Amino acid sequence: MTVRERLEQQEALLLAPWATHAADSAGRARPEAPCDLRTAFQRDRDRIIHCKAFRRLKFKTQVFLSPEGDHYRTRLTHTLEVAQVARTIARALRLNEDLTEAIALGHDLGHTPYGHIGERTLNDLLPEGFRHNEQSLRVVDCLENDGRGLNLTAEVRSGILRHSGPLRPESPEAECVRKADRIAYLNHDLDDALRAGILKDFELPGDCLRVLGNSHRSRINTMITDVVRESAGRPHLAMSPLVQEAMDGLREFMFQRVYRDGWRDPEEARCDTVLRHLYDHFCAHPGEMPEEFVLIGYRDGIERSVCDYLSCMTDRFATRKFTELFLPSSFQSF
Ligand code: MG
Repeated sequence: MTVRERLEQQEALLLAPWATHAADSAGRARPEAPCDLRTAFQRDRDRIIHCKAFRRLKFKTQVFLSPEGDHYRTRLTHTLEVAQVARTIARALRLNEDLTEAIALGHDLGHTPYGHIGERTLNDLLPEGFRHNEQSLRVVDCLENDGRGLNLTAEVRSGILRHSGPLRPESPEAECVRKADRIAYLNHDLDDALRAGILKDFELPGDCLRVLGNSHRSRINTMITDVVRESAGRPHLAMSPLVQEAMDGLREFMFQRVYRDGWRDPEEARCDTVLRHLYDHFCAHPGEMPEEFVLIGYRDGIERSVCDYLSCMTDRFATRKFTELFLPSSFQSF
């Protein structure tokens, strides 16, 4: 018996009846021989960690654009926090932790530079629209690995696509990631907003805090514990109405005060300008993109391939490209 076969047997014995089993995976678009050491989902997790798009998350914005301090979240640390919250919930509910982790680590691979402002700009520019969850799937399907993609299992691909947007997750593990994403970003964005002085402790909504707790750690703990308690013995994830309401209230507050508030406008307008200039430039000169994107252009159209190229950029790479292309060289030595 191989190690993988033993792990699959353990899954059959230990996981909840509605959990996803690696041995029952619907498989990959291009069939591959199984690995002796790892289940299909462990293998997917490893492929995601080793891909280039995962490393670029380090220099992509979460919410705070080019943060001054080293303690603000980036897209990479956000992803790691989501994975940690999702794995805690999955393990407590006897769901497949490997599948959960793979989906979590891959969920934001398609995120644009400059956070959601970048997503909004590309959505405006691309005729068929742009959404980061769809782009994450595109990254693992056809942008990574010199255009061959990572050939991930159907379960991981579906979980990545459905972590946000109108489509419902198709497995309890995918539900875990969707829930963990919200728990993670609400809490760490609030923490970063307090760190930046955008919010003061006394301004936070008291009715939400009475339910969720007065500190970062107690709020996360309340949310995770509530999900585990309310979902135990059920095939779908749930939250108690009380905690759900408090979390929705906090989310509403964050949208008003952090995500949509006017303090972001000047910097967001600059990021929007950078991406629009780069988009026009590369649509007019597609041959200046790396060859892999030129090839995508032949297959899927120039606009699509330019959006692929732009969405792959980190914040600093996009800013540097803009500086190179549109500012006099004397400026670049500043
Ligand atoms: Mg996310």
